[in-house]
Amino acid sequence: MARYNGPVCRLCRREGEKLFLKGERCFTPKCAVERRAYPPGQHGQGRKKVSQFGIQLRQKQKLRRIYGINERQFRNYFEKAEKQKGVVGENFLRILERRLDNIVYRMGFAGSRAAARQIVAHGHVRVNGRKVDIASFLVRPGDEVALKQKSKEDKNAEKYKAFLANVQSGLENKRSRSLPSWLEIDAENYRGKVLALPAREEIEGASVNEQLVVEFYSR
Ligand code: SF4
Repeated sequence: MARYNGPVCRLCRREGEKLFLKGERCFTPKCAVERRAYPPGQHGQGRKKVSQFGIQLRQKQKLRRIYGINERQFRNYFEKAEKQKGVVGENFLRILERRLDNIVYRMGFAGSRAAARQIVAHGHVRVNGRKVDIASFLVRPGDEVALKQKSKEDKNAEKYKAFLANVQSGLENKRSRSLPSWLEIDAENYRGKVLALPAREEIEGASVNEQLVVEFYSR
């Protein structure tokens, strides 16, 4: 399934809450959820009755949209979570949270997961000193995630200016939000470490009822 390239604020309005897909804009009054707090489309303000299936579907879509993953990969993660020991829903959330693009975002090197994905895809990220340009790479406790040296040293190079400005803005935003306790960052050196797997309450999709997502895929 192709990646969604349409307006992302529409996705938040569809889910009825902020999913923080646009970085800085999400914290301003320009946020579409604040300006138009009803679902998009011609019938957005119409019928409200939702079936049990509809409730499960919305929870699944909300979680998928938070992490920006296509349906096939999302289902693959679910199947992987089912095979692990423990509670399926929590395993599932933990796998999503371990994605490299999510880690780069959570460390504050990018303002949104979409921006983090681009930083990874453009080869700016090192995991334990080795280049990793796959956003879906799953980090493990103990892994060190850093931006490549050239990105830091070439501060005057024109091509890195926009990139570094983005990273700086990500780090500044991060200062006003809290860094989860399972991550550690050294902002001066653009590096961080994964200390542990996240606890359930520290996972970004905490507002999602993962049990409903499990029910959706177990139909
Ligand atoms: Fe969602 Fe951010 Fe757009 Fe608001 S500004 S609707 S939180 S993506």
